Amino acid sequence: MQILAQIVFILALAIGIGIFVRNIRRMIRNIKLGREIDRTDNPGARWRKMAKIALGQYKMVRRPVSGIVHVIVYIGFIIINIEVLEIIIDGIFGTHRIFAFAGEPYRYLIGAFEILALLVLLGVIIFWIRRNVMNIYRFRAREITSWPKNDANYILYFEMVLMTLFLVMNAADYQLQLNLAPHYAMTSGEIAGAFPVSSFLLPLLDGFSNSTLIIIERTAWWLHILGILFFLNYLYYSKHLHILLAFPNVYYSKIRPKAEFDNIDAVTKEVQLMMDPDTDPFAAPAEPEGEAEGEPAKFGASDIFDLNTVQLLNSYTCTECGRCTDQCPANNTGKLLSPRKIMMDTRDRLEEVGENINKNGKFVDDGKQLLDDYIQREEIWACTTCQMCVEACPVGIDPMSIIVEMRRYLMMEQSAGPADLNNALSNIENNGAPWPYNQMDRLNWATEN
Ligand code: SF4
Ligand code: SF4
Repeated sequence: MQILAQIVFILALAIGIGIFVRNIRRMIRNIKLGREIDRTDNPGARWRKMAKIALGQYKMVRRPVSGIVHVIVYIGFIIINIEVLEIIIDGIFGTHRIFAFAGEPYRYLIGAFEILALLVLLGVIIFWIRRNVMNIYRFRAREITSWPKNDANYILYFEMVLMTLFLVMNAADYQLQLNLAPHYAMTSGEIAGAFPVSSFLLPLLDGFSNSTLIIIERTAWWLHILGILFFLNYLYYSKHLHILLAFPNVYYSKIRPKAEFDNIDAVTKEVQLMMDPDTDPFAAPAEPEGEAEGEPAKFGASDIFDLNTVQLLNSYTCTECGRCTDQCPANNTGKLLSPRKIMMDTRDRLEEVGENINKNGKFVDDGKQLLDDYIQREEIWACTTCQMCVEACPVGIDPMSIIVEMRRYLMMEQSAGPADLNNALSNIENNGAPWPYNQMDRLNWATEN
């Protein structure tokens, strides 16, 4: 029976990890559909930024209530999962609390895990209340429809169940040790672990036989580890991918001043040539980016293939927290734009393209694109390019860069700017100013009475 349990455990572990690796490989393949961008400069500054923002959660705690609760849930959840290492070894070899030989340090560790489990439980209850009972705008905005809303709740329920199973498993284990049950009780007579929280559950187990306690302990143990394997694979379909991706995402985020735009080299060269008095006006124009390699030139972005790999990584990392939208002046004044939706739409389109590749072996044109089919023109023209979304994002995402790339596409590829902007640009071209007056009339105001 024991050997059968070990075989089933090893199979479950292999399947769970196998599916996880397959999904991560698909995600990396999807991210690589974007244009390459070099963000490997200044590694020292990048590591410091990652330590401060991703590990230190510096931006999260700017909002103290949600920030501190998030830190507790995050740290607690990660640390408690260290115990998974022991569970895996016990599962493979059929041992009981293999690390218990460490004695006192082990007892402190298990005791600390229990306290953290309780704090995580309280934390996710607070999050659930904030999300479902309190009337917080960013949790009920128009892009938080069925799946994003459910996804956020599912993970809270999931963490509640995992923490409860952990404590029930420990309580039954503790009782079995107290009963000196074979396999559970240590030969030294000491208790393996300390149970400052789960010991409060002992009255609920009072009077149960050892065989019933073993069923409770084993059921909680199996559900706990299978739940963790399920959670690992659920991540790929959830906004909770940020648990893993926040770190590389912050590392590869922009470290130059945020308001500094990425220029298009070909355009920069054109402008430099125009401004240079020594330029040969009859020289052949510079080739736009991409043509040198035989690729069709394209300015800006209309689909995910035109975005860079960091922007696509951003879309997988978005936590859908809405802090960007909360700070967005366009959204706050009732415009259609929500930077969170820009990131969610980008990920949805990327996932759609990924599914297309999974099905066909390569991307087969589906007649859709990110612009218009997901993100509307009204949204991108509502942006003031104020950078508040970039500043507010707790995981270093840059929604504005996607908006700017789409504007570039519309202006430079389609000449499809909004009428007001086109008029202003025509006036700048013809009159040297955005107003419809001849340059000769500029000083008329000074002569009028
Ligand atoms: S840059 Fe654009 S999208 Fe971002 S906060 Fe400002 S207006 Fe909103
Ligand atoms: S872009 Fe950043 S701030 Fe906006 S919803 Fe995503 S994670 Fe939150």
